[in-house]
This record gives sequence, C-alpha cells and structure tokens, in this order.
Amino acid sequence: MIDNFGREINYLRISITDRCNLRCKYCMPEAGVSNIIPHDQILSFEEILRLTEAAAKLGISKIRLTGGEPLVRNSIVDLIGRMNDIDGIDEIDITTNGVLLADLAEDLKKAGVKRVNISLDTLDHEKYAEITRGGDLNKVLAGIKEAQRVGLTPIKINVVALGGFNEDEFGDFIELTRDNDISVRFIELMPIGSADVGENYRFISNEEILKRFPELEPMEKEKFSVAVNYKLPEAKGNVGFISALSNHFCAECNKIRLTSDGKIKPCLHSNDELDMKKVLAEGSDEEVLEALKASIGYKVEHHKLNEGAAPISRDMNKIGG
Ligand code: SAM
Ligand code: SF4
Repeated sequence: MIDNFGREINYLRISITDRCNLRCKYCMPEAGVSNIIPHDQILSFEEILRLTEAAAKLGISKIRLTGGEPLVRNSIVDLIGRMNDIDGIDEIDITTNGVLLADLAEDLKKAGVKRVNISLDTLDHEKYAEITRGGDLNKVLAGIKEAQRVGLTPIKINVVALGGFNEDEFGDFIELTRDNDISVRFIELMPIGSADVGENYRFISNEEILKRFPELEPMEKEKFSVAVNYKLPEAKGNVGFISALSNHFCAECNKIRLTSDGKIKPCLHSNDELDMKKVLAEGSDEEVLEALKASIGYKVEHHKLNEGAAPISRDMNKIGG
C-alpha cells in the first residue's frame, strides 16, 4: 500500500490488550484498572486474524505485537502460530516489558516470533520497583537471558530517558553493548495521554545524551528504522536513539497501528482513528479490506507535536508503543 505521500506501508503494529502487569509512571495512571477497556470491546483473536489477513493482502509483511503487555493475553502463543501461517506475513516481533518472558520465550520462538524488544528503564532493583509501581527486575533479567538462549535475537532494550530518574545509568546501559550483541535504544519521553510526564521527569533529548558520550560512533542509517544507530568502538552491540519529538522520522513512516479495541490509528500522534469493529462484525472480507485500505488515506505527512500541537488523549497502554 502506498499512502498519499508516497510512503510504502508494510508494517502493522497490533496492540492485543490494554491490560498490563506493570504500571509505569510515564505510561499508565496508577488507577489503570479503573479505566480499562471492557472485555467485549477488545478484539477477539478471530477478528485480529481476519484483519491481519486483509492487511497481508494489501502488502503488510511485518507485524509487531504490543499492548498494554502483550504477554498477559491468554493464548498469545496460539495467536502467533496462526498469524505466522498467513500468506505474506514474513516477520512477527513483540514489544514486551519482559516480566513473563522467562516462561514464554521458548514457546514464542517455536510459534514463529523472530525478535523481542524489551522495555527496561533502570538496572537498579529499587528504582525498577518505583518506576513500574511494583515490578520485579529479577524477572525481566531472567526473561532477557531466556530470550537470548532461545534465539529471539538480536534483542533490543528500550530505555525511556527520564531526567532526574535514570540519567545516571545511561553509561551503564551503553556499556552493556560492549560485550553483548544487543541494541540499547534510548527513547525520548513523549507527552501522551494522562502519563505522569513533566512534573516528575525532565525531558532529555537524544542529542543531549549523545553529547555526554562522544565515544559513540555513528553507524549507517537503516532504511525504515525509527532509530539512529551508534556504536562504541569494537563493541558487539549498538546504541540507538529514537527521537519522536526532536527529530521525527515521519518521512520514512511505514506503519499503521491497530488498537486493542479495534481502531486503526494511521499516526501515533494524531487523534484520528478508524473504527474497524463494525465492519468486522457486519462486513464481507472485501469490505474489511477496503476499510483498511481507506485508513491509509488518513496518514498525515508528519505530526505537529514540535510545532505546539496538543498531545493525543489516549494513554500509551491503550495504543501500543
Ligand atoms: N508493555 C510493553 C512494554 O512496556 O514494552 C509494550 C507496550 S509499551 C506502551 C511500549 C513502549 O512504549 C515501552 O517501551 C514504553 O517504555 C514506551 N512508552 C510508554 N509511555 C511512553 C511515553 N510517555 N513516552 C515514551 N515512551 C513511552
Ligand atoms: Fe505496561 Fe509497557 Fe506501559 Fe509499562 S510501558 S505500564 S509495561 S504497557
């Protein structure tokens, strides 16, 4: 599918649940449970698979499952196995907080998952419990180890840069890439939904991080990658920077998003959404395909967050980062 600005859209990011076993302060309000989407509004696996089939016919070849926390949804391994059988789907990846990964990694790999991105903002046990409101760092570390063992690689570790919280650990994260073939990616904090952003954490641009680590050497830019990659000299892994705000990557955007309640979001930073629930309930396969195709027409050229546009109203856990 080619959008109105000549971009080839071949990547669908699916949020399979808005529920999560953590409550990261910049992502979810503490009372996350009270504003949860009711079960009957969440897409069923049948609906997700039907949409994925239509998307594959339109040229989508890569899927990323996210959430909420995708691994808390029952039978995710089964969903992935069925998705992997769809003609045209070449790659299925997952973004996860890693808490349940030690138990699931092997089955996920067997079902067809290629790689995992694991979100981890601190290597300190107490700070981890604080930022996630109660999470256990040991579980994530065990998850990373198991993912490496079963070959869900190369692993990417996503670190949200939080001024006043984890900036003293940036160097430790970068050091991890010296002897391990992993990619550590710094993500700029985004003003999204009701997240506890701004008051407690200072926004740090990737440029600011880069200035602190002049030993990082630039690597060649990968096409469609949202990250700009650097490397420590002789390191096995690399360090990526994802700058949604200070240096947006809209010109190369190749993706659309499907929320757990069945809305196509053509752009993360726009409130535009197209409801697929009705067409899934009442429409033919052809109508589902046409609706999906039409959603591409709503992709904007670029977001306007750094020109003062208001942040979107949905929380990140309801979209899928
Ligand atoms: N639960 C999974 C996880 O944490 O990886 C998947 C969903 S989570 C919404 C996806 C990514 O969005 C995570 O890496 C998280 O750190 C990031 N994220 C959430 N809120 C954010 C915000 N306000 N700014 C920047 N990144 C955010
Ligand atoms: Fe859950 Fe991921 Fe949001 Fe943290 S960032 S609350 S793990 S969805």
